[in-house]
This record gives sequence, C-alpha cells and structure tokens, in this order.
Amino acid sequence: MDATIGRIGFIGIGSMGWPMARRLVEAGFSVTVQDAVPGRAADFARRHGGTASENAAQGAEAVITMLPTSRDVAAALAAIRPALQRGAVVIEMSSGEPSATRALAADLSALGVAMVDAPVSGGVARAETGELAIMTGGEAAALDRVDPLLRAMGTTITRCGDIGAGQAMKALNNLVSAAGFLVSVEALLIGSRFGLDPAVMVDVLNASTGMNNSTQRKLKQFVLSRKFNSGFGLDLMVKDLSIAMQVGRETSTPAPLAAQTRELWAAAAALLGPGQDHTAAARFSEALAAGQISEQKG
Ligand code: NAD
Repeated sequence: MDATIGRIGFIGIGSMGWPMARRLVEAGFSVTVQDAVPGRAADFARRHGGTASENAAQGAEAVITMLPTSRDVAAALAAIRPALQRGAVVIEMSSGEPSATRALAADLSALGVAMVDAPVSGGVARAETGELAIMTGGEAAALDRVDPLLRAMGTTITRCGDIGAGQAMKALNNLVSAAGFLVSVEALLIGSRFGLDPAVMVDVLNASTGMNNSTQRKLKQFVLSRKFNSGFGLDLMVKDLSIAMQVGRETSTPAPLAAQTRELWAAAAALLGPGQDHTAAARFSEALAAGQISEQKG
C-alpha cells in the first residue's frame, strides 16, 4: 500500500484551522474543508481552493480536526465515521483532553484507522506563516506518515510520547503562558501606580530576565493598544488550564500555583462574559486593582 498522503479532510476552519488549511492547499495537498458554520467551508474553497463538504472524511487519507474541545471532536468524528476509510489517519490538532483522545483513538483503531494528536502553539500569526510549534503523541509509523502535512503548518515538530502526550504538553505550555501573562499584567499595574510608563516597562522586561511570550508578543500588541484581539478566546484558555489541572489530578501532582492560575482565568471569564479574547483578562486584573494599566500617577 502507498503510505503517501495526498487527500486531506480538514474539520474546523476557525481562527486557527483556516490559515492551517490554507497552508496545506498551498503546499499542494488536495484539501476538503468542513465547518459547522454554514457557508464557511464554501467561502474558504472560493478564496483559497480545495473543496467544501459536509463530510470531509469522504475519500480522505488523513482527517485533521481543529475544533474547540474534545467534546466537539467526538461529535465530529461520530458524524463522519461511516465515511472514514480503513488505513486513514486522524490527526487531532485541537488542544484537547488526553484521556478523551485516548478513548477516541481506541475506538478508531477498531475501524483500522490510526489516530495521533498534534496540538499547536504560536497563535493565529504563526498559523498564517506556517511557523507553528507542533507537539505530537502517537505511534511512530503514523507520525512518520503525517510528517509532511505537519511540516506544511509548523517549523518545530516535537514527538512527546504516546497518544495524548502532545495534548498534555500543550495544556502545560498554556499553563506556563497563562501564569506569565497575568503576573506580567500585575507588574504593569503596580508599575503604573508607582509612576513607571508601561510601554517602557515592557521594553525593559524584554531586555531583562522578566521577558516571556506575553511581554514579547501580547502586552504592547493587544493590552496597551486596548485592541484585545489576538484571536485566541478567553474561554479556550480556561479550557486549557482545566485540562492542565485534570492532568495534574490524574498524576496526583500538588500544584497550588497552577490551581490559582486556573481560578483567576476562570473568574476573568465569568466576570467579562462570553466571546472575549484571552488578552482581555488584563481587564479583570485592572478591575481587581480598580485601575487601568495606562494610567499614570503624579
Ligand atoms: P475557533 O472557535 O475560532 O474555531 C473552531 C471552528 O470549529 C469554528 O469555525 C466552528 O464553527 C468549528 N466547529 C465547532 N464544532 C464543529 C463540528 N462539530 N464540526 C465542524 N466544525 C465545528 O477556535 P480556534 O481558535 O481555531 O481553536 C481551535 C483549537 O485550537 C482549540 O482547541 C484551541 O484551544 C486551539 N488553539 C487555538 C489557538 C488560537 O490562537 N486561537 C492557538 C493554539 C491552539
């Protein structure tokens, strides 16, 4: 059997899936896109090529899922199941729950369908340029087969272990990122009250040991600008932190700072309401401090 993958079904062309699927089309793969929002897949095909379908598994050698939650992935896979062909590979690229993904993989293996997880980091900006960091879980043979697809979307591809390992890694990455964001915002709030210019603070942090992804790519761009439009939802960040805590519970790992971080992000989501960008969590910290980062005293 020829193991080369040419035909891909891509389910979930949202903020991330859209640019990722576009990269695959541009790399020369035959891509069929599917999305729950009516007209979205057809819109993609009109703009970038490929085909729109209500069952992207039809004729596909690989099916990619890029959906909000593992629950959405389970629903999507149940719907396309009759069209999944034996020998196909499902590449679950959402930031999902490792235990749920393992259960789905076991179910698919009964159909002769392999599954790997390959969640991503880098946000919409790096999805656009094909420079995502991709962390994978699954068997080497299946990962070898899908490698050319992953390389069309990402530049750093790291094998983390068995199925679910990529998703555990992804949740833990976002835990570190989320804690870094909130503490950076708190530092800007304290500094603003002291009389420091927040833009200067970001410059100093980026030249110093306090530098992190939020100081480099989020604070000026989305918080100080008050744009709050990074393209990564606040609800999705809370979901990722809940997954990190789930992995923590499953491994009996005491993690009080991680728990506090999840609680703060969940409180921000509750206070700010649905449909917010994750960078808007800065407004939650501002509400706690009864102030705004940009305000200058004295
Ligand atoms: P999104 O909400 O923008 O897009 C999700 C898409 O899936 C939507 O277009 C929606 O209509 C579609 N969808 C939902 N259920 C469906 C179903 N059953 N069948 C077909 N389509 C369905 O979400 P996103 O920001 O693209 O995130 C997707 C995943 O990637 C999430 O797990 C998220 O945590 C992760 N992620 C996001 C970012 C980011 O910066 N946005 C970065 C890294 C990882």
